[in-house]
Amino acid sequence: MKIVIIGGGVVGVSSAYALARRGHDITLLESSSRVGEQTSYANGGQLSYTQVEPIANAYLWRQLPRLLLGRDPAFRITHLFDSTLLRWAVQFLRACHSQQERTTIANMLRLGLYTQTVTAQYMAQTEIQFHHRHSGKLCIFQCPKAWQESIKRKTIKNQNGASVQSLNAEECVAIEPQLAHKQSQLVGGLYAKIDECGDSHLFCQALAHYCQKKYTMQLIYDCPVTGWQLHNNRIQAVTSHSDHFAADYFILCAGIDSVSLARLLGIRLPIYPLKGYSITLPAQSGAPQTSITDMQAKVVFSLLGNHLRIAGIAELAGYNKIIDKHRVEQLRQAGEKLFPQAADYTADPHGWCGLRPYTPDSAPIIGESPYTNLFFNTGHGMLGWTLACGCAEITADLVEHRTPAIGLDGLTLARF
Ligand SMILES: Cc1cc2nc3c(=O)[nH]c(=O)nc-3n(C[C@H](O)[C@H](O)[C@H](O)COP(=O)(O)OP(=O)(O)OC[C@H]3O[C@@H](n4cnc5c(N)ncnc54)[C@H](O)[C@@H]3O)c2cc1C
Repeated sequence: MKIVIIGGGVVGVSSAYALARRGHDITLLESSSRVGEQTSYANGGQLSYTQVEPIANAYLWRQLPRLLLGRDPAFRITHLFDSTLLRWAVQFLRACHSQQERTTIANMLRLGLYTQTVTAQYMAQTEIQFHHRHSGKLCIFQCPKAWQESIKRKTIKNQNGASVQSLNAEECVAIEPQLAHKQSQLVGGLYAKIDECGDSHLFCQALAHYCQKKYTMQLIYDCPVTGWQLHNNRIQAVTSHSDHFAADYFILCAGIDSVSLARLLGIRLPIYPLKGYSITLPAQSGAPQTSITDMQAKVVFSLLGNHLRIAGIAELAGYNKIIDKHRVEQLRQAGEKLFPQAADYTADPHGWCGLRPYTPDSAPIIGESPYTNLFFNTGHGMLGWTLACGCAEITADLVEHRTPAIGLDGLTLARF
């Protein structure tokens, strides 16, 4: 079949691979001049198959006043009077209860664990290099209340097939010796051995190159899709300026821009940008070998090749992609505080920001659309890098009218 994929981020490139490998004729349309240049460019690098809990949770109600008053340095709202945000926020707050949280964790864990297997298969099939490591992941806690809440989530996760260990401070240091100087401040940690890390930008580039070399895939850069040609409830073609691209099937993987493209079709995708930042510094001998999430500062650390990636911050700031230098400095300071010997903190931090395509319940939107030959693979929020390969394989199954390996409850547009 002839298939057009819109968007060459980690989700679009993975989808292209899944379908090209099955023998389909793929055209990948990318508005930038390279793949993986938007949100997939410098994310936290964590492949967090088991840390899938949604931001929308019952505990958030207690934190809400602090968040709204701007007392959490990791969170900021600057776009309060945006009607799209208000509609999204209502859906988000409706998802902040324990039953929904449980359901989302179960759905996301099913997807995360499946994705771990698929990612390993893709690596074995392609042998592409992207600074991948079986790093494990350790979430560390300094606040007793947050630690207690996380233990409840750990129990739900382990009931749903994960194997997350709770550790005391001493055990955290045994897993990651670079935390030794912080031992007295830690109340505990959650460790997932199966979690990994890797550079999603390198992955996009290497996988796209592999597809072009090995399969029938046309990759067209500087090609922003601007419209759709329809016939009844089928898409006939997409247009980009004066060009048009006809196909049997279309997959929408345009990250945060999926929203405006879907709107042209009269579809409202409940996805809002959650802006985040990262810095990337030359690593030094004190760099953590384990992927770390500091739950107090809400900052993640991944060692990618000989660089340390430090990422975090959640801003509801609309579609604004201006890099705020204070945020870059905030990440640098968070790094220096937790791991003073981990990186050359005097080097250029390569400050970057990206817009996470975020749904109210933190789960992606994959699968059918109201148009018979259009599928969604978008809205992956904080976990697009983690979930890309699993979602690609599911999308390929759906296009071929096969039953995906996992159930899609809570992962399609129908839940909204
Ligand atoms: C600070 C930060 C840290 C993060 N850390 C992690 C992490 O540790 N682990 C994790 O799993 N995830 C993480 N994420 C989330 C992850 O990066 C995203 O979920 C993921 O990159 C989304 O991929 P995507 O392909 O959907 O979107 P994108 O990477 O944005 O790709 C969409 C592509 O579509 C193209 N496009 C847009 N419009 C059009 C159009 N009209 N026509 C053609 N092409 C178009 C864009 O140019 C872009 O290349 C993080 C995100 C941020 C911001």
